Formats: sequence, structure tokens, C-alpha cells
Amino acid sequence: MTWILLWFRNDLRLHDHQPLTAALQTGQPVIPLYCFDPRQFGQTTFGFAKMGAFRAEFLRESVADLRQMLRSRRSDLLIRQGLPEDIIPALVQDLQLTGVYWHQEITAEEVAVEAKLQRRLQEMGVTVQTFWGHTLYHPDDLPWSLTQLPEVFTHFRKQVEGNIPIRAALPTPSALPPLPEVTAGECPTLADLGVAPPRLDSRTMLKFTGGETAALERMQTYIWTCDRLRCYKETRNGLLAVDDSSKFSPWLALGCLSPRRVYAEVERYEAERVKNESTYWLVFELLWRDYFRLIAAKHGNAIFRPTGLQGLALPWQEDWPRFQLWQSGQTGFPLVDAGMQELRATGFLSNRGRQNVASFLTKNLGINWQMGAEWFESCLIDYDVCSNWGNWNYTAGVGNDARGFRFFNIIKQAQTYDPEGEYVKHWLPMLRSLPPRLVHQPWQLSPAAQRQRGVRLGVDYPNPVVDLFKSADTNAQRYEAAQQLTRRKRPQRQN
Ligand SMILES: Cc1cc2nc3c(=O)[nH]c(=O)nc-3n(C[C@H](O)[C@H](O)[C@H](O)COP(=O)(O)OP(=O)(O)OC[C@H]3O[C@@H](n4cnc5c(N)ncnc54)[C@H](O)[C@@H]3O)c2cc1C
Repeated sequence: MTWILLWFRNDLRLHDHQPLTAALQTGQPVIPLYCFDPRQFGQTTFGFAKMGAFRAEFLRESVADLRQMLRSRRSDLLIRQGLPEDIIPALVQDLQLTGVYWHQEITAEEVAVEAKLQRRLQEMGVTVQTFWGHTLYHPDDLPWSLTQLPEVFTHFRKQVEGNIPIRAALPTPSALPPLPEVTAGECPTLADLGVAPPRLDSRTMLKFTGGETAALERMQTYIWTCDRLRCYKETRNGLLAVDDSSKFSPWLALGCLSPRRVYAEVERYEAERVKNESTYWLVFELLWRDYFRLIAAKHGNAIFRPTGLQGLALPWQEDWPRFQLWQSGQTGFPLVDAGMQELRATGFLSNRGRQNVASFLTKNLGINWQMGAEWFESCLIDYDVCSNWGNWNYTAGVGNDARGFRFFNIIKQAQTYDPEGEYVKHWLPMLRSLPPRLVHQPWQLSPAAQRQRGVRLGVDYPNPVVDLFKSADTNAQRYEAAQQLTRRKRPQRQN
């Protein structure tokens, strides 16, 4: 009998899984495999753990759930620790496999692994099939080739939505062929992976559990049981409540949930309950996700460079003392500090929170945005290489779609999205005694008020690390100068 090996990567699910569907269609039995690659647990260039404890735990849970799903269908998941480009050819040889299928990735480190593996398998005469996944739209259906993809999100969105059909999510197979005689392998513990277990902070709003089972449950809860899709657009910028936004991102990032599956659920909800701006908006946000992946595929390594997609040479600072204040949530700006403390304590931060802390790091502190992006990579439970680096490009003002030097007025943002100060008080309990008028600007407390409220600036809560507007002005000037220089350096197009 001939077998096909199915290499699971960031696609830890059985629904809407094209490599699995394609392998089953050949009529050949399938051997599913997941490799814990030690490189995933290495360090970033600035020395942070590539995968923090929350994501590592979520990954383990997702792999364990996938194994369970496969076992309940008479199959199993082989689990190995090591380099896929070594492990897979060895399995091919041992088990006399004829084909290897997987979902392709598009960013440098993952592509390098694929290329090595592909070379080795080709030398062995094995059929390799790779598939595009992870997005709502399939690139083959788009009106442009990847190289012609619009640089501006709105142009991209307007040309696809309503014009290009989204392919239907593929069904989950009900049964799978049993495996040959082979050691299934144990799922490594966090200690095996060199990761200390995450500590659950009592202030955590939602404990994310990895895996397709939990992903589908979350979708059911958010969309149907709590009926929150109908007001998504109005609540999505909320900072505190679990159901302010979908919280689908960790499952989407690891592929426990496919965006086409979410789309199908939105369509069903629209047919059965309500179709409104909110139902549209969730899909709109998924388009951002598509866009960042497609843009990353178009531009390759440019998204990782300090100059970003624009090639803008800004004089970024590597000011470690100030970076550490940002990292640990001690900048003296409550919205930033609450966000950074939430991120560290839970591995999650709302989109509004991410935009504010990223803007503050780059537009107020003038600190190298790559340090911020790597810190997010380390902490985020929903880390997705394209969404993270794409959003950082955008927020730092070096993305193609970034509209010049735009900085978030942290105080105004805080007053708009946290008018009573509930969010900042949740994460910064020392500010609990402050009224809404002062909670986002504690530096306005007089010495007498500090004594009265029990918040001593510089003791209980830090003084602001910079002046919000002066620091933004300084960085705006640097930005303008860099833009002019870049424009002068760029070759002028001859008509
Ligand atoms: C600096 C920065 C870094 C980010 N890094 C990541 C990351 O590593 N992984 C990640 O999934 N998202 C990232 N985002 C996007 C966004 O913050 C999260 O997707 C969102 O907060 C997840 O919460 P949710 O699932 O409740 O989102 P919802 O508001 O419910 O949105 C639904 C889904 O749409 C997608 N989405 C929403 N907003 C964006 C966006 N701006 N860009 C791309 N996709 C989006 C996500 O998949 C999300 O789950 C980043 C944003 C910023 C500003």
C-alpha cells in the first residue's frame, strides 16, 4: 500500500483543510504529522523568547486536540520534536511513503524550511503537493497576480468584496483510514520545549484554550449563544469585556479555525437572524487579515526591515531603558501601561490597545518598531507573522498604506474608549481612587490630591516618561525629514 504524509503546520484543524481533502481524494491512506520545531522556541534578534508561554501552551493544546479529533476518526497524529526537513524524509524512507502534502507558508523562515524539505523529497522521488490556505480569498481567484496586488487596503477591498466569490469551506471528513504500524509519539510538555508554564492572572478576561474544538465552541458562543455578532461594529473597540470583539484571532492564527468557516457562519447568521453593518464588519476585518498576508507574499522580507514596505530610513532609537518602561507598562500613561501589563499577563490585547501602545512606542518614544514587533511576537497568543509585522509597518508609518505621520493622542483615545477609566483601573489598581477626569492623566494631581487619593507620583505610579505632544512633534519632524530624503533618493520616473 502507498501512503501520503500530511504535514500539519499552522492549520491545526480538520475542517476546511485542502491538503487533507486532496490527500483523501487520491484514495490513498493518510499519515498526519506535527513537528515541534526547536527553531520556533529560539530567540528573536533582540533576544526575546520567540514563543512565549501562553502561545506555547495554546499550541500544545491545539496539537493535543487535533490528535483527539483524528483518533475519534480511527486515525492518529504522529508527533515529533525536531526539524521537519530531517524528520519528514526519514519517515518517508522508513514507511515507504509516496507523497507529502502541506499548506504553504509565505514568510522567510517558513519558506526556507519548505525549500529544504522540498529539495530532499524531490531527490527521493516523492510527490510533493502544497496548497494555499489561511485566507478568505484564494489568490487564484483575485483579479491581479500577487505582484500586481494593490498597495492600499481600500483599493484591494473595493475590488474584491462583492465581486470575487469566496470559496466554500471544505467539509470535515467523518472517518479516516487507520495508520500503519508506527510510533505515534508523545506530545512534549512545556518543560520539554524549554518553556516555563504560563501563570494565569486572576484579572484575565478570557482563558483561551487551543484547538479546533474550543475554536468552534467560541464561534458558537460569540455568534449564536451570546448573539454578539449583531452589535460587533459598535462594540469591537471595547477594551474590557470578553465579547466586545470575537476573540477568534488565536484560533485563526494557528489555523484551528479557518476564515472561510467563519464566513460561512456569518452568512448563516445573516440568513437566520440579522444582516447588518456589524455582520459586514466582521468580514471586513478578516479582509485586513487577508490583505496583510497577501502583501507579505508580494513583498517578501521587506515587511521585516526597519525601513518597512516604504523603504523609509527613519533614525529609530534603540533606547533600552525606555523600551523596558514600555514593555513592563511603566510609562506613566495609564492606557499604554494597562495595555502592556495586560499583554504580559495574558498574551492578549485588544486591537485598540495594540494600536495605542504601538503608536506610543514609535511616534512618542521614537523607538525602533522592530523591537516592539518582536516583543509582540514573543507575547501574543494570536501571533501571526503577517498580521503582526504588517500592522507594525502600518502603525510605525513605514507600511505602504500608512498615511504619513499619524500618531494616537493617547489621552483622547483613553477618554473615548475608556471614559470611566474601568479598563485602566482593572490593570492598574493603584489608580482605583481616581475620578474619570484624572484617571488618564494622573500627572495633573496636585501634591495635596496625591496625598488625599493615595497615589504618589513617582512612587505608586510613574511620572510620564515623555511629554505627549512635544515628543510627537520631535518624531514628526524626523519623519518628514526621512520622507524628503527617501523621495530625493528614489529614481524619478521618466515619462
Ligand atoms: C501592532 C499590531 C499587531 C498585531 N498583531 C497581530 C497578530 O500577531 N495576530 C493577529 O491575529 N492580529 C494582530 N493584530 C490585529 C488585531 O489587533 C487582532 O487580530 C485582534 O485584536 C484580535 O482580536 P479579535 O479576534 O477579537 O478581533 P475581531 O475584532 O473580532 O476581528 C475578527 C478577526 O479579524 C482579524 N483582524 C481584525 N483586525 C485585524 C487587523 N488589524 N489586522 C489583521 N487582522 C485583523 C483577526 O483575525 C480577528 O480575529 C495586530 C494589530 C496591531 C495594531
